Amino acid sequence: MEIRIQPVDPAKRHPKPADETKLIFGRVFSDHMFLMDWRAGQGWQEPRIVPYHDLQLDPAAMVLHYGQGIFEGMKAYRWHDGTIRLFRPEKNWERFNGSARRMCMPEIDVARQFEFVENLLRIDQDWVPHSIGSSLYVRPTMIASEAHLGVRPASEYLYYVITGPVAAYYAEGFNPVKIYVSDEFVRAVRGGVGEAKTMANYASSLYAAEYAKSRGFTQVLWLDAVERRFVEEVGTMNIFFRIHDELVTPALSGSILPGVTRDSVIQLAKHWGITVQERPIAIDEVIDAVKSGAMKEIFGTGTAAVVSPVGEISFKEESVRVQNGGVGEWSQKFYDEIIGIQYGEKEDKFGWVYRVKI
Ligand SMILES: *Cc1c(COP(=O)(O)O)cnc(C)c1O
Repeated sequence: MEIRIQPVDPAKRHPKPADETKLIFGRVFSDHMFLMDWRAGQGWQEPRIVPYHDLQLDPAAMVLHYGQGIFEGMKAYRWHDGTIRLFRPEKNWERFNGSARRMCMPEIDVARQFEFVENLLRIDQDWVPHSIGSSLYVRPTMIASEAHLGVRPASEYLYYVITGPVAAYYAEGFNPVKIYVSDEFVRAVRGGVGEAKTMANYASSLYAAEYAKSRGFTQVLWLDAVERRFVEEVGTMNIFFRIHDELVTPALSGSILPGVTRDSVIQLAKHWGITVQERPIAIDEVIDAVKSGAMKEIFGTGTAAVVSPVGEISFKEESVRVQNGGVGEWSQKFYDEIIGIQYGEKEDKFGWVYRVKI
């Protein structure tokens, strides 16, 4: 399967951002996109790189009604020598296939996903920003495109990849977040789709997120759906607790998204000799540890922010401050190490960085 490439008409190129350090996340897109179709009985067809354009979908396209859709999020980083790198991209591509299986959608061979994104990055290489912290966000997506009103797996899908430059998440240094513990609304239930990067999870999180925002909080801390007691994630990030000098994070139970950043923090911590416990952690244990002073730091992890320190938690009308509302030593250390590896300023001991062939 050859990739057909149709470059954009130079007159129709998107304007490049004037200041790449001041981009709003997810608003600016590069000149090209990758597309490919799947039909039952035929498999994946017609891989192509074409100018970024509006999609044409039948109003009965199944994704628009039943939400059969998945996505991924990763970044391409420019090193100061001009080369472009991806961070553990195979993890994203394997996770994409995991999400596809859970949602009864067709998988895409990992080596081919590599090839598609590499070709797209090659044609839009000028879109990868130059300043440290900024990067080109890569968003692979798959949707059920078959026109049919009826609940069953679709027989036609569209896979596409769009990219766009994004600024460093913390242009002016870390900004610890205030989080609201939701014991009323839940994100995902064990046996549900919480561990898949599927659209429903984000739609279902909006109400609680808006509620938290209206009360002055930045993010929701999600508890398990059954007992409403065990911590799961924070916003769209995984969560870590430093209790004394051990690192605790909820075990992957099926309702938690298996983050690449989560896995990287765990591996780094172990490499540094830190004890890591992947286990259920109850919200009462969290609040008690904050009050007793045993809780040294809390932070979220994800591709967009890398590390997001938590400065305050509110649970049942009670608010407690963590690390005096500031940034903990470990949060900073994990952040610096991961950013350092991504931009080639720290040694890549684990072989996490992939050099894109341009
Ligand atoms: C994407 C995502 C994460 C973080 O995953 P990374 O691979 O580290 O970016 C965590 N939780 C949710 C719900 C997510 O969608």
